Amino acid sequence: MSVWFVTGASRGLGLEIVKAALTRGDSVVATARDPKAIEQALPGHAGNLLALPLDVTAQSQADAAVQAAVARFGGIDVLVNNAGRGLVGAVEETSDAEARAVFDINVFGLLTVVRAVVPVMRTARRGRILNISSTGGVVAWAGWGVYSATKFALEGITEALRLELAPLGIQVTSVQPGPLRTDFLASSSLGQVERVIDDYATTGGASRAWAGENHGLQEGDPVKAAAALLTLADLAEMPARLPLGTSTLADIRTKLAAVGADLETWQELSRSTDVVPA
Ligand code: NDP
Repeated sequence: MSVWFVTGASRGLGLEIVKAALTRGDSVVATARDPKAIEQALPGHAGNLLALPLDVTAQSQADAAVQAAVARFGGIDVLVNNAGRGLVGAVEETSDAEARAVFDINVFGLLTVVRAVVPVMRTARRGRILNISSTGGVVAWAGWGVYSATKFALEGITEALRLELAPLGIQVTSVQPGPLRTDFLASSSLGQVERVIDDYATTGGASRAWAGENHGLQEGDPVKAAAALLTLADLAEMPARLPLGTSTLADIRTKLAAVGADLETWQELSRSTDVVPA
């Protein structure tokens, strides 16, 4: 039986992970900006559910939630850094405040929670961390540049953290979902840039329109994604990254092929910058 600590558990993927873990008898510290949303969604789980307030941008809340988790369950086996939000708009259309706000949650929020939870795992010399990235953590599309930048940042943090924590018995994985049928594209979640520039109508603007038309039509099932995360967390050796969804596999393969082709095509120019030994 594991103890899970999940951020952004009020709805969407986070809530499904909490439900799946509780259903199989694990204990869960489910955190959200408003923990009442969790209690309302999951009545009757008093024994193995601890719902706590956690806005991931607040270090003091993260520290308090971890203290309460340890007091109640004695430790944390699996951390899921799930809290996050999208932002759609061309790069130039995005204001400094809009870009920083999404970085504050998706990147600095994750770091905040890592700083709070990892000491507990280091002391135990065991633990698992699942960082919820995105296809957008590997591939950037027009209109999603700043959101992708947050997930690219998450990928870098995850890759390094995996190396740093492996010798201490802690495994770290990046989970890369494709479009999931949650509130992600709904106006309650997805940020929209205020400034619209006509020149981006067919690029960033097209993505804005796509987002508006595709809420509720996404190919990915968050219940199945949550089940896959439980399978992942149970593996003896977690992979460095786990893409979720058929389109994600195709998109990442296309990206890797393009990166590989650039490496091959430009290798002479790439090598030309080396210092030639005297
Ligand atoms: P939802 O919009 O349904 O859920 C987002 C969750 O994040 C909510 O619980 C929300 O809480 C929480 N959250 C937002 N800001 C904060 C904050 N400051 N502190 C704590 N919690 C916060 O989307 P998903 O469930 O789909 O998103 C979950 C993760 O999956 C995100 O990291 C997202 O980037 C990623 N993802 C989603 C994809 C998709 O298509 N759905 C695709 C790829 C990745 P509140 O209810 O308080 O707003």
